Parts: sequence; C-alpha cells; structure tokens
Amino acid sequence: MLSFELTKEQLEMQEMAHNFAKNEIRPVETELDKLANVEEVFKNEAFWKVMRKAYELGFHRMSIPEEMGGLGLDPIVMYLVLEELAWGGAGLASNILVAPVAAMFTAMFAGGNEEFVEKYVRPFCEDKEAKHIGAWPITEPEHGSDCGFTADPEIHLKTSAKLDGDEYVINGAKSAFVSNGGIADLLLLMACVDPSQGTLGTGVFLVPGDLPGVSRGKPLDKLGLRLLNQAEIFFDNVRIPSEYMLWPPGEGYQMLLETIVTFGNTSVGVLGLGVARAAYEEALSYAKERIQGGKPIIEHQAIALRLFDAYMSIEAARALLWKAAWYNTTHMPGDLRLAAAARVFATDMAMRVTVEMVQVLGGYGISKEYSLEKFLRDAKPLQIMDGTTDMMSLIASTRL
Ligand SMILES: Cc1cc2nc3c(=O)[nH]c(=O)nc-3n(C[C@H](O)[C@H](O)[C@H](O)COP(=O)(O)OP(=O)(O)OC[C@H]3O[C@@H](n4cnc5c(N)ncnc54)[C@H](O)[C@@H]3O)c2cc1C
Repeated sequence: MLSFELTKEQLEMQEMAHNFAKNEIRPVETELDKLANVEEVFKNEAFWKVMRKAYELGFHRMSIPEEMGGLGLDPIVMYLVLEELAWGGAGLASNILVAPVAAMFTAMFAGGNEEFVEKYVRPFCEDKEAKHIGAWPITEPEHGSDCGFTADPEIHLKTSAKLDGDEYVINGAKSAFVSNGGIADLLLLMACVDPSQGTLGTGVFLVPGDLPGVSRGKPLDKLGLRLLNQAEIFFDNVRIPSEYMLWPPGEGYQMLLETIVTFGNTSVGVLGLGVARAAYEEALSYAKERIQGGKPIIEHQAIALRLFDAYMSIEAARALLWKAAWYNTTHMPGDLRLAAAARVFATDMAMRVTVEMVQVLGGYGISKEYSLEKFLRDAKPLQIMDGTTDMMSLIASTRL
C-alpha cells in the first residue's frame, strides 16, 4: 500500500532541520534581509555563522555518496530538510542547496579519478567552516533561457574553452545570476568547446575558483532571496589541465543537462513549498489573533477561505514534489515532465499563496514589522531560478 508515513530517522532529520531553521536561519534572514547594501550581507559574521552551523550539521553533503564522505541521503529526506531550511529562509537555503553542486558532479563524473575525489570531494565533505562552496555557472549576459535545450546550431555559449596542448584556455563571462558566484571556491562551469555543434558543443569543467584569471562581480542587488549570493564570474585566459573537463561536448550533453534540470527543478519547487508554508503559518496565527468586527478575522469567511486554499495548495504541491522525487530517483534518468510539473506548480503556488497571505494581514502584510512581505519577495525569484516557469512548461510540453 502507498504510504506517506515518515520513518523515525526521517522525522529526526526533519526535526533537526526545523530547529536549525527556526533558531538560526529565520532570525539571521530577517535581520540581514533589511540591509540596504547587499554587499554587507556577505561580509556579516551572522551570515557566515549560519553557514558554518549548516556545514557542521552536514546539510552541505547530504547528496554526496557515503563512501566519499557524504551522507548519501535519499531525496525524500533531502527534500524534508530543504523544505524546513526554506521555511526558515529561502536565501540561505538556496546557498546551502547549491553548495555541493561542483563536488557532487565531481563525485559522479570524475570517472574513478581518485585524485579528484581526494582533492575536491572529501575536503568539501569534511568542511565544517563553510570554506568550500560550489557554484554552477552556465547562464551568460546574452544567453539565459537559450543556454541549453535549443536545436538552433547558431546558438552557443560565448564563454569558450579552447584546447592548447594539454590544457584548456577559458575566456568569457557568466551572468550576475550565478548562485554562490561571489563566494564559491569550486565551479562547475559550462563552456563552449565546439561552436559548430551549437549548444551541444558545450563541455562541463571543474574550475577551482582561485585560478589566475578568475574574477567576480559584486553581489547582485535584488528583490528577494537577498541572502542568496549571486554574482558574475569572469574568465580571462584561465588555463586548466584537459582532465578537468568532466563531460565532453556532443549528443550526451543534452542528456546531462536534462538530468541536471530534472533534479534541480524539483529542488527549486521545494524551496517554494517552504516559503509558502512559512507565509501560511504566519498568516494563520495572525488571523486567529486579529479582531475585527468583534471577532477574530479567521471567522470572516473571505479570510477562512484564503487560508484553506493556502493549506490545500501546499499539501498538493508537497504530494507532487514527493512523487517527482520518488519517480526521478527510482526510474533513471527520470521524467522531466514530472519534475517540471512539480516545480512549476510549487513555485507558482508559492507566488500566489504569499500574495494572498499578505492580504490576510491587511496593511500589516506590507509592513516590515511582519515577515509576509519578505516571503512574497522571496517567492518571485523561484519562478525564474534554474529556468523560468514558462520555459520549463514549454520544454515539458514537447514531451507530452
Ligand atoms: C534565484 C536565481 C538563481 C539562479 N541561479 C543560477 C545559477 O546558479 N547559475 C546560472 O548560471 N544561472 C542561474 N540563474 C539564472 C537563471 O537560470 C536565468 O535567469 C533563467 O534561465 C532565465 O534567463 P534570463 O534571466 O536571461 O531571461 P531570458 O532568457 O532573457 O528570458 C526573459 C523572458 O523571456 C522568456 N523567454 C525566453 N525565451 C523564450 C522562449 N523560447 N519561449 C518563450 N518565452 C521565452 C522567459 O521565460 C522570460 O520570461 C538564476 C536565476 C535566479 C533568479
């Protein structure tokens, strides 16, 4: 029989993540989100204290196999944790979510290269000070939605990797949207190796962020997710040995990108789930306290219906996300349609629910005295992250 019952271990992980989210993430997100100068966020000791604590608890290495020093958790547990972290604050949750990307791909695709595992994967897993952080630079100022999934042979990434002897020489710039772009020490870089193949000419490189010629832009000043570090990354004649190309250009690139997008999208949906639940819980508790017309506003039908709709939408999103997570790990290489359905549903739901929960609080909903306006601002970027909801829907619709 199908069961949604969580095991004792799953419940323990969920509780640990919730306590961390409540006691560490939420207060720091609330305080630092208000800083007008976003650069100050990433210089602030409170930001790094939470990151270090997240690493101490092992949240950065959940997806890495146990034999390489990770926790090797199944995706349902990871998503239980991620929902709680995003409930606390989706900016910090996003930093933690993206942190393992380079180490995880090295673990998966270094082809048994023990030297890479010892040099990049184990130190990442053993890190308790948030010194090792990954980023996935793919989008560029001129290539966002069309940096993958396009058959047009004229379109390819501008960041180039050209073979020179037994080294690649990398030149170009990645967009200001790269998550962890300003703080990452290890990059999983997508660069064009063979422009004649269009986007299929892309190779995937492991690039240590301190190599000569790698530089960063300022943190992106943005609407929401203000604690997610996002910054441009520039490559100026960066030289890297040829074995640092983890995945070569060719037909297989499409399959790789599809796999990344399938897993990435489900995670983005879970971030939306956490934000929506945070907004719902705060609005529910307010509606039970706030008296208007001689009774708590939850007894006014318009408010009660809004709250029930939020409850129903959150439950539906979670069920779909869990199904996508279960299917996509038990049926490799997964189903992009299901991942896109879960992500689009959950992030659109988060946008709608956060707007409606602001309405429940009336004027206090837009006041910085409460968190509702922050939840609304945090929900919006989730409809754009890792491919816009429109693009994901369009790509998935071609697979119907
Ligand atoms: C929070 C967040 C985190 C991110 N993290 C990363 C990261 O870690 N690494 C990274 O490289 N990038 C990252 N990005 C960038 C993200 O992947 C891009 O923003 C996204 O793919 C859209 O690209 P764009 O912003 O250039 O918009 P554009 O591609 O210019 O799109 C603009 C609008 O046109 C629409 N559009 C474009 N093409 C089509 C089409 N063919 N049909 C219909 N509509 C179309 C889009 O849906 C959108 O509404 C992140 C973005 C956000 C918001």
